[in-house]
Amino acid sequence: MNQTAESLWFVFYKDELLLEKEGNGTFAIPCGEIPPILIKDKTTVHNITTLEGRNCKAYSVSQPIEETEQYAMIGLRASYEYLPLGHYQAAGKAHEILHWDRNSLFCSACGTPMEQKESIMKRCPNCGREVYPAISTAILVLVRKGDSILLVHARNFKGRFNSLVAGFLETGETLEECVAREVKEETGLDVKNITYFGNQPWPYPSGLMVGFIADYAGGEIKLQEEELSSGDFYTRDNLPELPRKLSLARKMIDWWLECSHK
Ligand SMILES: [Zn+2]
Repeated sequence: MNQTAESLWFVFYKDELLLEKEGNGTFAIPCGEIPPILIKDKTTVHNITTLEGRNCKAYSVSQPIEETEQYAMIGLRASYEYLPLGHYQAAGKAHEILHWDRNSLFCSACGTPMEQKESIMKRCPNCGREVYPAISTAILVLVRKGDSILLVHARNFKGRFNSLVAGFLETGETLEECVAREVKEETGLDVKNITYFGNQPWPYPSGLMVGFIADYAGGEIKLQEEELSSGDFYTRDNLPELPRKLSLARKMIDWWLECSHK
């Protein structure tokens, strides 16, 4: 595909993304040769990727943008509902790069202001330290017991839905060890037959979710009260409110529903 002079512009104010109204309640990433919102001095414009022959550029604004006839601000999570998947994913990457940029202004070794050298690399002009966007890896696990699955409600969930046990990978452990540890810590249960399901970038703010399937192996549910407000096994006829479609957790639950229906 030929490169055009037009760019797709990913403009963020905090977690909110600027979208152009297309009528009929549909939205799109603003596209054009010039940026949709004035870029202030000292603002870094980041090159994120290319999509459909267009450069994807991202920058942050420091003030909220008021809704107009042409533009609206929509949360990154909610933008999943309005954008083609590839555009949502590029927006996620843009959000991660902007987060990284804000949090790597100074060298963590010597305190000197960092200089951006490549789209995903900064170097300290004093000591030569190089930094790249860091990714936090977290696991998700769908635990099966007979015709039911383990669903929990974590206190930090934004909403009433129930989801899969999840947790961050710790230094020095394998993903499977992390799965077994998180289930044990959060619910007191043992699991077996831990197998890989899939993974998903999770730009909130800079994560990778890795999903696993496991089978119940023993123990009684004893919830880690500081993290979880509820947790139990649910059959397909008795499911609580589930996470939204954009999440890997929901994809895994939907996969199990399909399997258990056969
Ligand atoms: Zn340094």
